[in-house]
Amino acid sequence: AHADFDQLLQTIVDDLAPERGAGELADYIEPLRRVDPLSFGMALCTVEGELYCAGDATQRFSIQSVSKVLSLTLAMQHGRHDLWRRVGREPSGNRFNSLVQLEHERGIPRNPFINAGALVVTDVILEMLSDAKATLLDLVRGVAGAADIEFDREVARAEHETGHTNRAMAWFMKSFGNLQGDPEAVLDAYFHHCALSMSCVELARAGVYLANGGCTPEGMCMLSPAQTKQVNSLMLTCGAYDAVGEFAFRVGLPAKSGVGGGILAILPGRFSVAVWSPGLDRAGNSVLGTMALEQLSSRTGWSIF
Ligand code: GLU
Repeated sequence: AHADFDQLLQTIVDDLAPERGAGELADYIEPLRRVDPLSFGMALCTVEGELYCAGDATQRFSIQSVSKVLSLTLAMQHGRHDLWRRVGREPSGNRFNSLVQLEHERGIPRNPFINAGALVVTDVILEMLSDAKATLLDLVRGVAGAADIEFDREVARAEHETGHTNRAMAWFMKSFGNLQGDPEAVLDAYFHHCALSMSCVELARAGVYLANGGCTPEGMCMLSPAQTKQVNSLMLTCGAYDAVGEFAFRVGLPAKSGVGGGILAILPGRFSVAVWSPGLDRAGNSVLGTMALEQLSSRTGWSIF
């Protein structure tokens, strides 16, 4: 019965072909400027572990802020009681790298999916684990079922060299006492997490635990069902930058996007879906990726509503 899923994804990719190249590539680092703007891929993984894909679904790209879901998962796995005192759960309504709110809210970021929030999450991970980079890489390789997933060293280096705002945020939060560790160590881990290089197929596989009560189709449990609900809720309210309301209006699925043009979306109980196209809208969400997810939900009626 599922044979038509491949067909469905292929139809969406074909129908949107005239739109390829829409939007603007992220231009803050050279490796992201170099990506082929016509790239477009899509992959869907069901909670049974069946995989469907279309377009450039096996080509790896920089997952950027989609990694914030994975680092949050790692922090939540270790059940730190103070995590939710140090980071909020409200949409920010500001750009993902805004410093303004941090001053008003005394160094407590609005949510774990803006940069400041992900830096706190990374700090929490570093407090528990000596190697935040290797541990996240292991987690990702495990859930994606791909032992050769790597950090793109060139992207990580470029993030390090250009990440002045992130650096300012880390030190600013340190001044409020909301970073425990060395801000430079937190930034190094954060930049590497952003630099994970994965394909749509790998990302869909990696994210399907969020559709399946916290467990992979193979039975590896990452989060409890209650924690999984929390992560999905945060994705719905905070996962698509400050256009998250518009995104929810159009797509109706919890999702997390990144400036590499990737988006991971979840239909709880059913599947995860990863899309990638590097052209971004003004908020930083993939133009074609959002269109593809909107088509998927409107053609099928699949949404959480
Ligand atoms: N590495 C980017 C930054 O920290 C992540 C941007 C994103 O995908 O939101 O600015």
